[in-house]
Amino acid sequence: DAQRLRQELGGMHGASYGRYKSLTGSWRFDGFTLQVQRVQPDPYAPASRVQVTVDADHAGLPADLHDNPVRARALAGHLARRLHRALDDSRLRVDAGGQQVLDRSSCQIHQGAVRVRMGIDLPGRGRTIDGRAAERTLCDELPHAVETALRWSTADQQQARAFVDSVEDTHALREALTERGWVAFVADGAILPRRSGIDERPLTSGVAFSSPESMRATVRLPHRGEVTGMAVPEGITLIVGGGFHGKSTLLRALEQGVYDHVPGDGRELVVARADTAKVRAEDGRRVHRVDVSPFVSHLPTGADTRDFSTDNASGSTSQAAAITEAVEAGSGVLLVDEDTAATNLMIRDARMQELVAKDAEPLTPFVDLIRPLRTTHGVSTVLVMGGSGDYMDVADRVVMMDAYRARDVTDRARQLAQARPTGRHSEADGYPPLGHRVVDPRSIPTERPKIRARGTDALTLGESTVELRGVEQIVDASQVTGIGLALVSCARRGVLDGRASIAEVLEALAADIAERGVAAVDERFVGDFAVPRPLEVAAALNRLRVLRVSALRR
Ligand code: ADP
Ligand code: MG
Repeated sequence: DAQRLRQELGGMHGASYGRYKSLTGSWRFDGFTLQVQRVQPDPYAPASRVQVTVDADHAGLPADLHDNPVRARALAGHLARRLHRALDDSRLRVDAGGQQVLDRSSCQIHQGAVRVRMGIDLPGRGRTIDGRAAERTLCDELPHAVETALRWSTADQQQARAFVDSVEDTHALREALTERGWVAFVADGAILPRRSGIDERPLTSGVAFSSPESMRATVRLPHRGEVTGMAVPEGITLIVGGGFHGKSTLLRALEQGVYDHVPGDGRELVVARADTAKVRAEDGRRVHRVDVSPFVSHLPTGADTRDFSTDNASGSTSQAAAITEAVEAGSGVLLVDEDTAATNLMIRDARMQELVAKDAEPLTPFVDLIRPLRTTHGVSTVLVMGGSGDYMDVADRVVMMDAYRARDVTDRARQLAQARPTGRHSEADGYPPLGHRVVDPRSIPTERPKIRARGTDALTLGESTVELRGVEQIVDASQVTGIGLALVSCARRGVLDGRASIAEVLEALAADIAERGVAAVDERFVGDFAVPRPLEVAAALNRLRVLRVSALRR
């Protein structure tokens, strides 16, 4: 077959580009099968798609490296990265990912067989086929890359094991959080800062993390053994400190702590609970039928804030919506940074309470709701707040970042809260029960709509564009595609049935993903995608400008 493909491509040389179509189908090579899944109609169209399945006995991967879903994902992530390097100068491209080890359609391991999906720009000269170049790519480079990157006999076995074990340790550390009553853990020695705003690799000259003694805890991991670090307990944790002292960097590491990072990233042992949601202000976004009444009452427009909609939210209402939506979607840990928060939703000090009477201020500040949110709904918050001391009254823990070092200043903050009362009175009496929205399934197109990621910034879903810049835990464009596919899949398969609440839909999706992995997101799509978190699927749904909510349950 490989020989036949060689002849075929040789024979096509100089023919019109459309003849590439005849390659569609399966080609058997020594040890693997090449499937040409989609052929581009012309040289300028999106790349063609091929799939390679390496036989289990040819790959020869030891079973213990893929005998559970976490290890299989890690090994796939490692192999994809190796393949990516092996294809460095090739027209073949594999979606290997960056610092995070995500479950990707580009590389999957099933019972020892390795399935890889790649893009390839089939070579042409003008509108004719360059058969010789195609032959080089598919008949020489491809088998060579499979040989050097996907087989155990040629692998750097120690490195592969280290990769898989590291990811499994990260996962185990995250799993340990809930039973210990923590929301996050930052290991001693972790490197949190990144090289730059556009380079996610570690800042190697960064100050390594060291935990304050009073918050130090030890966890035993399956491979590394005992590690120590800062345990962030459930409840309300305040991160304070001077500007430029590393507060936001710590919070961003916690945000990303829902993912497993590659060895050498510096954040391998920085984890946050899987249900952690970063929330922020995002003015201009659409909000559809969200109960923002805990935060917003009697708007000047007279709108009912228990069932609030707008096509153009303000900073404060967008953040109120983001908090409500995250909790509705099942998040139990909120992360908030003053840098991206709406000041008037965060604080209202005593003087302002006196100057502007409550009946002239629609907003109830977060400082009065953060505690009720915890006691009534069990939601923890980690908040960066260097600008206002009013939160000292409601914090369980106060961590100070001081020249990139964490210090526990809880006791001192308590003393100050006692000695210097804020003089303000709470504006909230508890946090009301949560509302649950039911989505009209017709909000999501189901007839093979166009799904395209514009980086991590936006998702094209059929006729609509979903703005995702405010969804900060999206780290990879392939997740964006995965979100689109997951939404369509939920609508197609009747998970989104017009009766289930958003939370119930997400639960069903999560259960399906746990069971079937990438297949739960999409079974037929030949492009690259990564399995998204349910919370990001919800965030995209909430930002869909054509979303219709058919019912509100309380
Ligand atoms: P803050 O939020 O307290 O104002 P940031 O977290 O934004 O501060 O950090 C300010 C700068 O310091 C950033 O450029 C960041 O990359 C850098 N930085 C943060 N943590 C470290 C560290 N541990 N070592 C070295 N540089 C750091
Ligand atoms: Mg900051």
